Amino acid sequence: MQHPGAPSPDVLTLLAREFGADLLTRAEALDARSRDDSGLCLPPAAVLVARGEAQVARLIVLANQHRFAVIPRGAGTGLAGGCLAETGGVVLDMTAMNRILAIDADCVTATVEPGVLTGDLRRAAKAKGLFYPPDPASLDTSTIGGNAATNAGGPACVKYGTTRDYVLGLTAVLPTGEVIQAGTATRKGVVGYDLTRLLVGSEGTLGVITQLTLKLLPHPAHQQCLAAVFANLDAAMQAIISVMTRGRLPSAMEFLDAKCLRLVGDLLPGHVKQRLQSGASDSGEALVLIECDGTREETARAVAEIEDICRELGALAILPAPDDAAREEVWKVRRSVSTRIHEACAVYIPEDIAVPIGKIAQMVAGLPEVEQRFGVDVFAFGHAGDGNIHLNLTSPDEAARPRVEAAAEECVRRALALGGTMSGEHGVGLAKRHLLPLEISPASLKVQRGIKALLDPNNILNPGKLFPDADAPAGALKESL
Ligand SMILES: Cc1cc2nc3c(=O)[nH]c(=O)nc-3n(C[C@H](O)[C@H](O)[C@H](O)COP(=O)(O)OP(=O)(O)OC[C@H]3O[C@@H](n4cnc5c(N)ncnc54)[C@H](O)[C@@H]3O)c2cc1C
Repeated sequence: MQHPGAPSPDVLTLLAREFGADLLTRAEALDARSRDDSGLCLPPAAVLVARGEAQVARLIVLANQHRFAVIPRGAGTGLAGGCLAETGGVVLDMTAMNRILAIDADCVTATVEPGVLTGDLRRAAKAKGLFYPPDPASLDTSTIGGNAATNAGGPACVKYGTTRDYVLGLTAVLPTGEVIQAGTATRKGVVGYDLTRLLVGSEGTLGVITQLTLKLLPHPAHQQCLAAVFANLDAAMQAIISVMTRGRLPSAMEFLDAKCLRLVGDLLPGHVKQRLQSGASDSGEALVLIECDGTREETARAVAEIEDICRELGALAILPAPDDAAREEVWKVRRSVSTRIHEACAVYIPEDIAVPIGKIAQMVAGLPEVEQRFGVDVFAFGHAGDGNIHLNLTSPDEAARPRVEAAAEECVRRALALGGTMSGEHGVGLAKRHLLPLEISPASLKVQRGIKALLDPNNILNPGKLFPDADAPAGALKESL
């Protein structure tokens, strides 16, 4: 399918007349929307700062009339290039539609515009004793609209699920300019096809989300965590699985492999460092971080039980975190990993494969072979409780990029062979679309393309995203790096 691109100069003049100061064409404004966190750089022809649903619908009607591309954008923290204007076009910046319209304590729901930052919603809900659980690490910089479009997840996913589980209903402008309300404001609802779940995770290709009704929960009274270091990842994963099969469902279960542990080892308390250096292990150590929430008593009991399980399974060291300060220290170890990898390496490809949780150790055990074959470094960490492994493929040498990309594809193939998926939370966008046929069968791809064609007959909304397409401009991605 041919992808629409930038509006012609005449159409740009028409858009400027129509939208006035909300249409931006100055170089700095375009430059600020030409990147996300994927490392790609693709400048748009113009930016419309959306102020309301009617304006969004009007832009889309004009895009159909004059055949130019419209690319929805939240905060631009995406890791797959989903909000970038590959063919030029008009970026639709949703960040100014950022009102929390209601936190309804009686109905235990929130109604928000898409540009609200996830962290702001979580804090507003907490102020009323309520809880919005999805917790992508980017929660203080990414928007709810972007989270919904990518079905973002985070450490809490193991207990609470992903963004999709909290979107009860939404309003969206379809690629034809029609406005639909999908879903309900109720906990249940089975009337008609579930268009809410179709739009959530559709990466801005099927509609522009302009309002969301979100499910909230009672805020847990207390959180407590511990970290444990094991001699190897097999032992660490046995602990994770034992915790789950012995009736506990923690609110986070994270892991770091030996390479990550070495990178952030200086942040560990002295006695743990000593223990690691004492030769008690084979240098293949792994760290798990497990957090529980609930009442103070329940949480303390659960963490004590988990500590017993870790000791029983041969933990080399336990780092308890009985108070908020200690908890923050433990999480700092986990959170510092990506920053340190990023700082240390010239080439850095963040993959986020997911495998069945019983296969995490097997997946990670195969990584040294990948490193050797392609001459790259691979760091593995992530969400042990749901099998979502952040594989950071790196090299200190920019010239090694093609090898790093080939190694990334090999990791995707290995994850799929283990019954996994190429992306647990970051999405496909531009960065992974060439790999889609590895995971999605031709029959399923045909259905998915059919849905896109039905909703977007002129292919004006976020063209080129998700699907591998022979008509995409050759080499556009590589040149943009
Ligand atoms: C440091 C860091 C940590 C991260 N941690 C996580 C993590 O733990 N879990 C996780 O899932 N992701 C994570 N991400 C990735 C990213 O933050 C998420 O994908 C996030 O949901 C993107 O939100 P955004 O507002 O930045 O959207 P953008 O990057 O602007 O857009 C992302 C996609 O959503 C579409 N979109 C945006 N707004 C709308 C709308 N209103 N209607 C329709 N489509 C829209 C865009 O077209 C694009 O396809 C991380 C990123 C960084 C940089």
